[in-house]
Amino acid sequence: MRKRLVAGNWKMHKTPSEARPWFQSLVDNLPQTEAEPALLLPFTHLPYAAQVLGNRVAYGAQDVSTHPEGAYTGEVSARMLADLGCRYTIVGHSERRSYHAETDALVAEKAQRLLEQAIVPILCVGEPLEVREAGGHVDYTLRQLEGSLKGVNPPSPAHLVIAYEPVWAIGTGKTATPEDAEAMHKAIRDWLEGRYGAAFAQGVRILYGGSVKPDNAPALFAQPNVDGGLVGGASLKLSDYLQLLTA
Ligand code: PGA
Repeated sequence: MRKRLVAGNWKMHKTPSEARPWFQSLVDNLPQTEAEPALLLPFTHLPYAAQVLGNRVAYGAQDVSTHPEGAYTGEVSARMLADLGCRYTIVGHSERRSYHAETDALVAEKAQRLLEQAIVPILCVGEPLEVREAGGHVDYTLRQLEGSLKGVNPPSPAHLVIAYEPVWAIGTGKTATPEDAEAMHKAIRDWLEGRYGAAFAQGVRILYGGSVKPDNAPALFAQPNVDGGLVGGASLKLSDYLQLLTA
């Protein structure tokens, strides 16, 4: 069975000194739960995550360079992230795809760099509102998945996490219904089966993201193909995040 993953995406929130006591409170209040907690953090917060979260709570970054090393001012490599103990890292978040013009091919390169360092990519896909309204959401999302996994061959299903995040649901307070989320997650799993085989597809965790909150999480997480969430806003408040871990 797939272990539920409740991954918080902090985006560009909190300073490292604000994060440090928050991490400590999380560790001190970690509930007894089957769900795996993980925090995806700004680069600057990672040394404190390594110190305070240690191996109690998984953590990682929200982006990575396509380059392994070299003269790339401002970039952060997968090897640097691995050195700080990152287990996961987000690639292809819609905010990076739209504000930084990241293409599927670039996202695939980033996923590859992470896998070379044994960091699990959390690969985000999902359609904008106009595509959903026109009924093209499944085709759109699967095409994005295909492009973002081109040439990417994770050694096992534990080395890949997909996050389905419909763009219209991110930070808007609108969520996909549990049935809509399940339909897309099933389509993604079927696609993974065609690409990597049935056993692999059954092992990959597919997270839902987009305005996940303590009140809507139980119904979403109860869907057979929803293996947890990628949570923005609600992961910044400790009480909300703790509730999500036991949803
Ligand atoms: P949200 O963000 O939960 O604030 O909608 C989710 C995400 O963008 O990962």
